[in-house]
Amino acid sequence: MRDWTLDEIMEVYNMPLLELVFQAATVHRKHHNPREVQISTLLSIKTGGCPEDCSYCPQAARYHTDIDKNDLMSVEQVEKAAIDAQATGSSRLCMGAAWRNVKNDDEFEHVLKLVKTVNDMKMEVCCTLGMVTESQAKRLAEAGLHAYNHNLDTSEDYYKEIISTRGYQDRLDTLSNVRKAKLTVCSGGIVGMGEAVEDRCKMLKTLSMLRPQPESVPINALVAVEGTPLEEQQDVPIWEMVRMVATTRIVMPTTTVRLSAGRTSMTAEGQALCFMAGASSIFAGDKLLTTPNPDINSDMELFDTLGLIPRKSFAKNEQRVSSEVTLTEAEKAEKIKWSRPTHKIEKNEDYKKQAKLKRKEEVL
Ligand code: SF4
Repeated sequence: MRDWTLDEIMEVYNMPLLELVFQAATVHRKHHNPREVQISTLLSIKTGGCPEDCSYCPQAARYHTDIDKNDLMSVEQVEKAAIDAQATGSSRLCMGAAWRNVKNDDEFEHVLKLVKTVNDMKMEVCCTLGMVTESQAKRLAEAGLHAYNHNLDTSEDYYKEIISTRGYQDRLDTLSNVRKAKLTVCSGGIVGMGEAVEDRCKMLKTLSMLRPQPESVPINALVAVEGTPLEEQQDVPIWEMVRMVATTRIVMPTTTVRLSAGRTSMTAEGQALCFMAGASSIFAGDKLLTTPNPDINSDMELFDTLGLIPRKSFAKNEQRVSSEVTLTEAEKAEKIKWSRPTHKIEKNEDYKKQAKLKRKEEVL
């Protein structure tokens, strides 16, 4: 595994496009079956009301967006969603809750039951629940969790322009806790938030320097949602997505590059180029947490056209067997201490004020 410098990653990213795709495709073929693409389903098990201020997110309680909020789903609801997901070829279910961090409470105990239920169905279970401590990550692992998603989103520098309610180091600490629990790591970012190419490459450098490198790296195109501070951002040109996918593939050769949010604004040809450049997973279902996603029929048509086949569960790693976890006294006494940065993002503050006014107007 080599250590990439920022200059080297920038050089890869800025290569003539077809040369870049060719090189990425060559790396992809060396480490992966190029016909296999994993279909995953992202299920929002608790939607909206999040205390964080991520500028791109319609689930942040402080913005005024048009999403249907829901409390934590029941075991039965999740089981049904998992059955439906399996029926459409998904081999991974990713459950997302709009939380700042996991708390040692009844809701966490319930999530552990959800994880066990889906793991018993022989699906790869992933969770994205915000920041986690090492002992919480261990409990998730023992419940049968396969992967934990926690995106870096962008570079450390640009992160301060997007989120003010937590620091970059908190993200890295969570990834480290996930690793200590022997879970696989899923961490990537969002393209199109106004960041520079350098920020994209810096994020890839940070991810590529993790040891081991993340098993999954989702590359999302921003879906600009009305009511969020990024609502006016233009769609990312497909060529930039192709560059990002290809560069990710080259600097992290064995990872599963996941072509995630934003596919509704990509053509079939654009997505095909992303698969060529090393993307080997998509998310299925008409929604990605709260934003639109292509329907499964159009995805299956695309698979047929391109000769792609869905990847089976645990093609790369063994299924985790659930068992009781015994925490040490120190782990039981573990205090959760995540940072609260003091900086403010003017745009986020403006949108917070506007949202308050809109809510008042609605009441009147
Ligand atoms: S991205 Fe996650 S942490 Fe940020 S506001 Fe949305 S739900 Fe909360």
